[in-house]
Amino acid sequence: MAQTTSPPRTVEPAANAQALPVHVPPVDELTEAQLRGHRCVWCANPLDPDRCIDLGERIAEDGYRCFPRACTICTVAMVHAQLVEHSATCEQCVDDGTLCAETAELRRTLRDGRRL
Ligand SMILES: [Zn+2]
Ligand SMILES: [Zn+2]
Repeated sequence: MAQTTSPPRTVEPAANAQALPVHVPPVDELTEAQLRGHRCVWCANPLDPDRCIDLGERIAEDGYRCFPRACTICTVAMVHAQLVEHSATCEQCVDDGTLCAETAELRRTLRDGRRL
């Protein structure tokens, strides 16, 4: 990845399961079916395995592993909203959004949601 000549910024937290860019509702507000990816994390409708978005494995505070997924409608709506909010508050994005890994991941998820 190309380095810019701008002065060093505050250190970003390392990318890990807790730092996945797509925000989902708190684990303790989700049902078992939602945590297992059988139902959409946002609207709780049953998911069609061929038309849903994998949001990445999450690990709850108590160590419980969950695999949230979402329907395409919610994904497009929620991820788009998060992207707008992110780009308004992210220093990197104000500077140059193409260098922001979080934006890249949000855009990728959004594209998946629109394609399906
Ligand atoms: Zn949904
Ligand atoms: Zn950003």
